[in-house]
Amino acid sequence: MTEHAEMIYSDEYLAYNFGNGHPFNPLRLNLTRDLIESMGVPLLAHPPRMATKAELKTAHASSYIEAVQQMSITGQPSWDAARFGLGTDDDPVFLGMHEAASLAVGGSLVAAERIVQGQSLHALNLSGGLHHAMFASASGFCLYNDVVVAVRYLRAMTGWRVLYLDIDAHHGDGVQAAFYDDPNVVTISFHETGKYLFPGTGDIRELGIGKGYGSALNIPLEPFTDDQSWLECLMAIVPPVLERFQPNIIVSQHGCDGHAWDPLTDLSATTQLFYNVAQLVHQWAHKYTEGKWLAVGGGGYELVRVVPRAWTLLWMEMTGQGENERTPVPDVWRSRWQSLTSEPLPMYLVDRKSDFAPGPRARAIRDANRHTVTRLQALSETTLHPFLAGRPAFE
Ligand SMILES: [Zn+2]
Ligand SMILES: [Zn+2]
Repeated sequence: MTEHAEMIYSDEYLAYNFGNGHPFNPLRLNLTRDLIESMGVPLLAHPPRMATKAELKTAHASSYIEAVQQMSITGQPSWDAARFGLGTDDDPVFLGMHEAASLAVGGSLVAAERIVQGQSLHALNLSGGLHHAMFASASGFCLYNDVVVAVRYLRAMTGWRVLYLDIDAHHGDGVQAAFYDDPNVVTISFHETGKYLFPGTGDIRELGIGKGYGSALNIPLEPFTDDQSWLECLMAIVPPVLERFQPNIIVSQHGCDGHAWDPLTDLSATTQLFYNVAQLVHQWAHKYTEGKWLAVGGGGYELVRVVPRAWTLLWMEMTGQGENERTPVPDVWRSRWQSLTSEPLPMYLVDRKSDFAPGPRARAIRDANRHTVTRLQALSETTLHPFLAGRPAFE
């Protein structure tokens, strides 16, 4: 099969908007699309569709979907909105929210369908990655869980074993919960430790339940974890899991809120890490899943300086466009958007090391992360699916 990537995209995605002042700002998609186009990289866009209610029900309670539908019509929280996690600061109610959220889910579903049908080998839905949405409630800016719906579709249509990798700074709790007892869906989440960050879960002891015991893996990273330590942990965990699990498709969530400049988290990654992750997932997909790779967006709240570059790099990798450390951000893009921020817009897609000097505690943080991985490895050996057994985490 020839290499073919598609981006599931429509400007209608911009309707997923919690309103002024809310950190989850659809401008992130606008700016990303504009950067991709300014770079002369083809968008290869294929339109999303709205997920149907039957499709949403593969991930959510009917009572929850009906509540969202009702509030979507009025634009006002119902008396029992709090029961569904709605009408909160994180998840305020807005007009048309059901349609907007269903389109984000439909984007990931179309991506999955295109891969199943062989129309596309790598598919990207930047409007997806809404990994916090739970069975019967909204959470953390996420109304419906596009990842859960897409993975349920893949499981039902193909029986493929699915590896889900989540590098968002926040724990991928909604996806983990949905597949916690499923040995055919392995979820791996790298995130800032829940000791300090929403949603508070994602401890190494969360390993799955029943037949799925061992198929959930969590790597809670220390605050201020840098690229080097993060990448080291990724390499200690993911390759042995791939080798033992032998997935048929990789689903990856590319939240970029672990960047040092992100206002909502305490991690210290740069776009170099996000690019490295994209390159690695791409290689792994070709090595283990005949290239089948469904990628979604996620968090990212440095709307202008980080998200567009992180996701442009992801898309360039998916489409096989050459990229190196010195690829500049086009002047035309920078001058168009500079007024949105008082900070100078970065000159290059890949952050320069010199702008991110290692913190004074870098070694201690690295050692703490190594310790976490070693402990997880030991715990994993006691599970039904000891993916990390018998392999030294760090040489
Ligand atoms: Zn490829
Ligand atoms: Zn996040």
